[in-house]
Amino acid sequence: MGETIFSLKQSKHLMNSTDAKLCTACKIRDAFFYRKYSGERLCRKCFASSIEAKVRSTITRYQMLRFNDHLAVAVSGGKDSLSLLYILAKIRKYRPKTTITAVTVDEGIKGYRDEALEIAAKTCKKLEIPLHIVSFKELYGFSLDEIITKAREKGLAELTACSYCGVLRRRAINTGARQVKADKVATAHTLDDETQTFLMNIMRGDVTRLAKQTPVSKEIQPLFVQKIKPFCEIPEKESALYAYIKKLDFQDTPCPYASEALRNDIRGMLNHVEEKHAGTKFAISRAMTKLAPALEETTKKEVFKTCIECGEPSTLDLCKTCEMLRQIR
Ligand code: SF4
Ligand code: ZN
Repeated sequence: MGETIFSLKQSKHLMNSTDAKLCTACKIRDAFFYRKYSGERLCRKCFASSIEAKVRSTITRYQMLRFNDHLAVAVSGGKDSLSLLYILAKIRKYRPKTTITAVTVDEGIKGYRDEALEIAAKTCKKLEIPLHIVSFKELYGFSLDEIITKAREKGLAELTACSYCGVLRRRAINTGARQVKADKVATAHTLDDETQTFLMNIMRGDVTRLAKQTPVSKEIQPLFVQKIKPFCEIPEKESALYAYIKKLDFQDTPCPYASEALRNDIRGMLNHVEEKHAGTKFAISRAMTKLAPALEETTKKEVFKTCIECGEPSTLDLCKTCEMLRQIR
């Protein structure tokens, strides 16, 4: 998970009253946030409007929504997904034919997921958005806690909890979106998530994954619900600040399994470079956009078959989900 509001308050991006200047957008109210990469100083109101405008322009630019789409929003209960849900609920007001359902995955992480589920349910009620919960236990027969215990018993040490969780959750979100008959599923991947993943895929030499990492998914397979990322140009820090300004309730405690070592290293490195050279994350994001057409060629060669065990689309005879579950059983 990212930076907490507490550390954000201490960061030099938030201005204190002694160096207060007028907001560069409205020129009326005092600025409270300095956006280093653009040079803007914004008041709370203009900051929130700028985030909402950015999301709307990302949706338009990548043609993420048709006027009558039923959109599933993957909600974890964290700041990013709840900010996204809140903004999409606002956008829905101007698009009367757009419907939204929140989809939350209950991985079965004792003492952690329960709180997130509660927060997600409360927010959905407030925003009048139906909530659909899909659980690992129901879908796969095991909770994540049980999977990790089994994996440890069997000496399967090579995979971390996040490796299991990542594969199984991606499948669960797709299944959940299909269950509610959504046309698309929106995830709250931020600019930080996207640039981290991009560098991780490069460092792992995973060109296929690199090619699939686009703001709108291109997997043309009827069983895959199309994925959109309306937050792909919102820095994580700003998504947190938005949640804070809007007084959204969100889960701030990290997952007890959080252990993605490579991602943590890359996050630290990227934040360090961004601090010294503002705009680096956006530069990486632009490079991703420019590279996308060339990379697309590599995914065109991918042929989807049907998994012999679960019947879901897969490039292998046995899909990754079933392979993991076989090892556990
Ligand atoms: Fe799953 Fe890892 Fe995220 Fe925890 S930190 S929810 S185990 S991916
Ligand atoms: Zn399968």
